[in-house]
Amino acid sequence: MVLDDLGSSLRGTLDDLRGKSRISEDDVESVVTEIQRSLLAADVDVSLVMELSDSIETRALEEEPPAGTPARDFVLRIVYEELVDLIGESTELPLEEQTILLAGLQGSGKTTSAAKMAWWFSTKGLKPAVIQTDTFRPGAYDQAKQMTERAEVEFYGNPDAEDPVEIARNGLEETAHADVHIVDTAGRHALEDDLIAEIEEIEGVVEPDTSLLVLDAAIGQGAKDQAREFHDSIGIDGVVITKLDGTAKGGGALAAVDQTDSSIAFLGTGEEVDDIERFEPEGFISRLLG
Ligand code: GDP
Repeated sequence: MVLDDLGSSLRGTLDDLRGKSRISEDDVESVVTEIQRSLLAADVDVSLVMELSDSIETRALEEEPPAGTPARDFVLRIVYEELVDLIGESTELPLEEQTILLAGLQGSGKTTSAAKMAWWFSTKGLKPAVIQTDTFRPGAYDQAKQMTERAEVEFYGNPDAEDPVEIARNGLEETAHADVHIVDTAGRHALEDDLIAEIEEIEGVVEPDTSLLVLDAAIGQGAKDQAREFHDSIGIDGVVITKLDGTAKGGGALAAVDQTDSSIAFLGTGEEVDDIERFEPEGFISRLLG
């Protein structure tokens, strides 16, 4: 059965349904209230929580449980399906030649994620290269260089160059033999016009197959605006949620997934190069509800 690892309060409410084959409106309401509580505590956007609870409520009351399915399993299945419907399966990333562009605000974890993703692709037998175009944040070059050394993957950057677009262009040329190009970009503390203009230019040169928005798991309301801005400028195909090794559950990032009509590609779970997981819905949903 899916979602075995639920929070105690939701599990308790669901366990009250044990032994029942029919569910009353009160039962559904208790479950939905518990789910709302968990999702809001996990920073999921209020309007998304409301949408989800409406669909769960409607389905739980209107659909007939398949013969022999206990009420608890039936409701749990609906909850899971509705969440998968919102979050989606992991962003498709074929194990072949490709170029990936990373976008996001400063500190979201782009540089770290670039090296981690390169490490991940290298474990799949591909030859990745990380191209560091962040000329804005002091230390970004050294950090990327050190991490890619630890990941034992190729790296291109130029600490003396000032133009990120030129670095991107040169980087792609210098690493033309690599299979997977991961282009890291500069962030800013906030969404500023120059950031958007710069990333649009880089995108024009790089022509990525996939553009990923990197978000800190602790992101709250800001996710929606960031996602909209980046999506309007370069088109976002997927989201990377970092720092899931902390207390934040990453629910805020779902607003970005919804806003860009995309999905989640990777989860960052620490500061080391191998602290990365390909997204899979079940574990993430259990954690959200837990
Ligand atoms: P950038 O400005 O977007 O390139 O962000 P960085 O990659 O420099 O990350 C900002 C900080 O977050 C650094 O101190 C990273 O070590 C840390 N960081 C990034 N990803 C993770 C993660 O998954 N878990 C933890 N604990 N720290 C992370």
